Amino acid sequence: MATEDTLRLFFALPCPPEQATAICSWRDRQALGGRPVALENLHLTLAFLGAQPAARLDALRHLAAGVTSDSFELTLNRLITLGKGFVCLAPSEAPPALLQLGGSLAERLGALGIVLDSRPYLPHMTLARQAPSQAQGTAASFSWRAERFVLYRSQSTADGVHYQELGSWPLQAPETATSAASD
Ligand code: ATP
Ligand code: MG
Repeated sequence: MATEDTLRLFFALPCPPEQATAICSWRDRQALGGRPVALENLHLTLAFLGAQPAARLDALRHLAAGVTSDSFELTLNRLITLGKGFVCLAPSEAPPALLQLGGSLAERLGALGIVLDSRPYLPHMTLARQAPSQAQGTAASFSWRAERFVLYRSQSTADGVHYQELGSWPLQAPETATSAASD
């Protein structure tokens, strides 16, 4: 249980508002059932830290500032159902830079003694919870360039879960072959 001295934290890729609007509008036409995730809450978790001492925030921000992963194009076009009715959008193939970012965070968190879920990392964006159906298959395609990652605090409120942004760090523009080859 989180106490006042601990914060429930996770690193994630935020979903830009334009794509979040398009995704929710598409999701709401699919009759998935269950509890829809609020538009402002759409995200892709990179690393779930759980309850952490508030005193650790500085170290976590320092850790995030040291990440040097590339920005990348993200396309979500598969519908999958995980666990107990978590209907999610997922990429048909995870971009290598996304796996590299998740791996880099996991490694750095491990060095701080923070152990992540032992299940293999499966990139997904939850659209609805407790859905009665096992939705699966091709979805509409939603794409954007992931140019930053965020540290969120997750708080349960009477109005549902709320995510507070505690920090945001840029992903680097990858060096292009042409600039490397130019003389
Ligand atoms: P709630 O649990 O209040 O219904 P939520 O699941 O959105 O809402 P959190 O449980 O705080 O809020 O989780 C925040 C994010 O971290 C979500 O994307 C969730 O799927 C993910 N997450 C939670 N627990 C784990 C875990 N053990 N391993 C990996 N990701 C997790
Ligand atoms: Mg949860």
